[in-house]
Amino acid sequence: MRYLSTRDPNGDASQRFCDILIGGLAPDGGLYLPQSYPQVDASTLARWRRILDEEGYAALAHAILSLFIDDIPSEDLRGICERAYTREKFATDEIVPVTHLDDRLFIGHLSNGPTAAFKDMAMQLLGELFEYELARRDSSLAILGATSGDTGSSAIFAMKGRERIHVFMLSPLGRMTPFQQAQMFSVDDPAVVNMAVDGVFDDCQDIVKQVASDLDFKELHRLGAVNSINWARLLAQVVYYVACWLRATADLEDPAGQRISFSVPTGNFGDVCAGHVAKQMGVPIEALVVATNENDVLDEFFRTGVYRVRTSAETHETSSPSMDISKASNFERFVFDLLGRDGARTAELFSGLGTGQGFDLSGDPAFADARERYGFLSGTSTHADRVSTIAAVERQYGVLVDPHTADALKVAFDVLDAGEVTSPIVVLETALPVKFAETIREAVGRDPEVPEQFAYLADADRRVVEVPNDAEIVKKIIVETLTADA
Ligand SMILES: *Cc1c(COP(=O)(O)O)cnc(C)c1O
Repeated sequence: MRYLSTRDPNGDASQRFCDILIGGLAPDGGLYLPQSYPQVDASTLARWRRILDEEGYAALAHAILSLFIDDIPSEDLRGICERAYTREKFATDEIVPVTHLDDRLFIGHLSNGPTAAFKDMAMQLLGELFEYELARRDSSLAILGATSGDTGSSAIFAMKGRERIHVFMLSPLGRMTPFQQAQMFSVDDPAVVNMAVDGVFDDCQDIVKQVASDLDFKELHRLGAVNSINWARLLAQVVYYVACWLRATADLEDPAGQRISFSVPTGNFGDVCAGHVAKQMGVPIEALVVATNENDVLDEFFRTGVYRVRTSAETHETSSPSMDISKASNFERFVFDLLGRDGARTAELFSGLGTGQGFDLSGDPAFADARERYGFLSGTSTHADRVSTIAAVERQYGVLVDPHTADALKVAFDVLDAGEVTSPIVVLETALPVKFAETIREAVGRDPEVPEQFAYLADADRRVVEVPNDAEIVKKIIVETLTADA
């Protein structure tokens, strides 16, 4: 399997998996995709069902990843998957349990990992892959990132304690939920440095960009990223679409052709893009429902064909904060496929986005394919919707969900009620309620339960340095830490 950039006019697929593992963007500014999607049929799915039932989630991950990765020996890749997806890390043997709410609704539980958010599904695998590849190359990596909450702690918990890896994580001072702060700052590892920046999330991101644009500094200190455009993260997520399909169809007499839809709480379009890949591989998926919050740039696109990126001033701070985006970094991957993999055209559409431009595909015949051929539907949910959905779902099904999952449930109900899908919907749960206590209190009048594995956080020490909004100071801390450890 070779990989190409979404902006390559010639479709030249020359990269192998490990070449693109640690880098982020392609040199031309595009995102990597496989040259083609491996195809699966009913017999492959039947074989995967046996693997999942008999050997478990890690073995399924190994089977699927093997179709995309040919530069890691199979036995090594199996070990990587087995170390990433353990009962210790994900609190259950199933890793991704699927619960059946009623005849048209399931929940796929993606947030039982170490930081109670679905990002652990990808990040735990990434940690293992990085450690493996850095050892093979006798190299090291300093990960620099900015987070508004979930990504940062997921990355820290995946990378801590690994040889050859440092993590420098910037977060906006005082802006994460109390649980998120307690969790992220609890890690006791000298190779993990939390910096709380006197500013907002965008300021943190700007600092990361400034530091990374100093190419000498970047190369000297082997700076890298773990953001959501990383192909390995997306690939890890394909596995749970397959697992959810297998589990949602497990009780059927003849599951072979049974289609399932997914409703996905969407921010940067990484999660639902993995669903797109699974569907393109031939997994029987009817619809992929993009659920947004008040930041509805993607819902607007799927309804109208107009992609109108927002400025950060137009980006709302909401009670499902991990979906507060103004432009969706993985969206380019889908548009590349939608346009028949036309790299020149994709480059043209997306290279203007940095300057605040969007694009309009409403008049393009390809736009109709988004719904008809690729199965995309969409909808929006507001704070009031989240609160009422959390309360209603608890009343009706006895299940307490977090605000992001509530957005996806709300939009799933809309789509089902409108008759837009005929198959049952698996709603992807992307975080546990404990991370967002304030909204849960508003919805059900009490605090969410703290799962046993997080009880220690209540009185854990906090390791964080407060820094001004200044890239030079961040650089200085990076240099001092790396020099002290050298
Ligand atoms: C990151 C995140 C999302 C959004 O996922 P994308 O892949 O960015 O679309 C949704 N919910 C939660 C809880 C998250 O952490």
